[in-house]
Amino acid sequence: MTLAAPLSPAYSALHQRSVTDRDAYWAEQAARIEWETPFSQVCDTSNPPFARWFVGGRTNLCHNAVDRHARDNPQTQALIWVSTETNQERILSFAELQREVERMAAILQAQGVGQGDRVLVYMPMIPEAIFAMLACVRIGAIHSVVFGGFASGSLASRIDDAQPKLVVSADAGSRGGKVVPYKPLLDEAIRLAQHKPASVLMVNRGLAPMDTVPGRDLDYAALREQHLDAKVPVVWLESTAPSYTLYTSGTTGKPKGVQRDTGGYAVALAASMEQIYAGKPGEVYFSTSDIGWVVGHSYIVYGPLLHGMATLVYEGLPTRPDAAIWWQLVERFKVTVMFSAPTAVRVLKKADPEALKRHDLSSLRALFLAGEPLDEPTATWISAALGKPIIDNYWQTETGWPILGLANGVDAQTSKFGSPGVPMPGYNVKLFDEATGEELLGGNQKGVVCVEYPLPPGCMQTIWQDDARFVKTYWSSIPGRQVYSTFDWGIRDADGYHFILGRTDDVINVAGHRLGTREIEEAIASHPNVAEVAVVGVADQLKGQVAMAFAVAKDSSRLDDEAARNALEAEIMKLVDGNLGAVARPARVRFVNLLPKTRSGKLLRRAIQAVCEGRDPGDLTTIDDPSSLETIRQLVQAPR
Ligand code: AMP
Repeated sequence: MTLAAPLSPAYSALHQRSVTDRDAYWAEQAARIEWETPFSQVCDTSNPPFARWFVGGRTNLCHNAVDRHARDNPQTQALIWVSTETNQERILSFAELQREVERMAAILQAQGVGQGDRVLVYMPMIPEAIFAMLACVRIGAIHSVVFGGFASGSLASRIDDAQPKLVVSADAGSRGGKVVPYKPLLDEAIRLAQHKPASVLMVNRGLAPMDTVPGRDLDYAALREQHLDAKVPVVWLESTAPSYTLYTSGTTGKPKGVQRDTGGYAVALAASMEQIYAGKPGEVYFSTSDIGWVVGHSYIVYGPLLHGMATLVYEGLPTRPDAAIWWQLVERFKVTVMFSAPTAVRVLKKADPEALKRHDLSSLRALFLAGEPLDEPTATWISAALGKPIIDNYWQTETGWPILGLANGVDAQTSKFGSPGVPMPGYNVKLFDEATGEELLGGNQKGVVCVEYPLPPGCMQTIWQDDARFVKTYWSSIPGRQVYSTFDWGIRDADGYHFILGRTDDVINVAGHRLGTREIEEAIASHPNVAEVAVVGVADQLKGQVAMAFAVAKDSSRLDDEAARNALEAEIMKLVDGNLGAVARPARVRFVNLLPKTRSGKLLRRAIQAVCEGRDPGDLTTIDDPSSLETIRQLVQAPR
């Protein structure tokens, strides 16, 4: 088998072994966690594309994330919570965390929640959200966390899909000092849903008044008092038992419940914490994501705790009280590993590029960025400002941990800006020609990034209650091949580094030429007066599609009149011509103050595209600021 050769020979050998001597490799990794019953088979591949990891083994995520550390290092800090929204802080040791999780588990059990039951968690970033997740996996209940920013419609469809016995929620979240009530949204979602959860456990933060539905709604604080001394033994689960589902959007309107197992996930995360993130037990890990997203599951909750690290959980904006808040936390809590997203870095850069310099960041070893392409200007800026390795890593809700990255915990590897790196252990990454199904073995050929069967441990087992959709969606898109499709375009250079060029499902086709909107964006973003840009494919009578660009200028004061806008547009067109060729030149570059994004910072390209094409942009419940889309609508409707 030929594999791309990463630069480090030590890592290359490890990666090679992880796919060619798969069972032996993963059996060794499995020793990172504790098993109540040892597994009898490492990977059951008898029913592809499904894979069952550590068959026959019994373990528990909560035992491995909490109890064993509470047993061995009870006083070591486990959870550090800081809210700049409510000006509160809370620090829990592993022993204290275990106690809170047992109390929560006792409450759930008292409501009849048991193994295999679903619990929907609709919570702001507060410790109780994490207690709830850990309590679920402790007793074998399957949690389904729904991002607190989702509104009633999205929540209702998830309630109907997951059919939870119980919902855990809170009166409100807070964003930028503004209270965001959750309870009315939840009540409305339950009203809309066909499935009615039997109980709703409410954490009352005292932020917003709540209506209580008698017989259904429960008060967490009161119940906690009743279970202060609760001892709830962990329920030992088959390694293959589902631990959680997490919804992610697909090409259809119906969200997909990504289902994860227990043992495989624990092993994969534990390995990634050392090999990829190079964290050490007893240190502090800070992921700036939200528990509503996959990064929150893997690297706010489970990964750090499994590894015996404290997780720093932050509720608040990166720019409030000022753009130094994250760096202040790094200094104060001696964070060694930090994980964020490129958008956040861009926000910080825009708000106050000097903020980092005001803090002692000597504890920090590396900053990991993921979730979206890391553009070169952002990478260059943060790298220079921080003076630490900036490590891009590429993965998806479906995989649960990085597909591509740099395993600096194994052997230092050189970062290449623009590339998330090389395949991580267990991922046999290949590029395929989407039309012919041919594997692209040469360097610098653009293809669909796919992973050979089986996916490594920790990746999705299936789509909740829909095996057929799992097979059809992920394993059937390359003709003649049964490989997992990421739906991302990529290329691999001669050193084995991969570059992600955007979603295959966002592809645009201009006069028969396939173009990645991402490539055009990169080109435009290299203009010195462009802060951010979104490119979408818009239907065009002559060319099939044309690219349309919406850019945020760094210095918008220079764009007051039309002549100035036209001049900048012309400069950008020229730049694209020069970088990619005239074929990639957008039909227009429009200037806006803000791009439509989800609250987690993902560009809403499809919504922009719909608006440009005069179509309904669809579900906008996750949009951060609806006026951004309205501006685009007005721009495209206005005569030139
Ligand atoms: P999600 O499931 O929401 O995490 O989104 C996964 C998608 O985000 C991937 O399929 C990629 O399109 C994109 N993505 C995530 N990480 C990266 C990265 N480091 N570089 C480029 N794209 C990324």
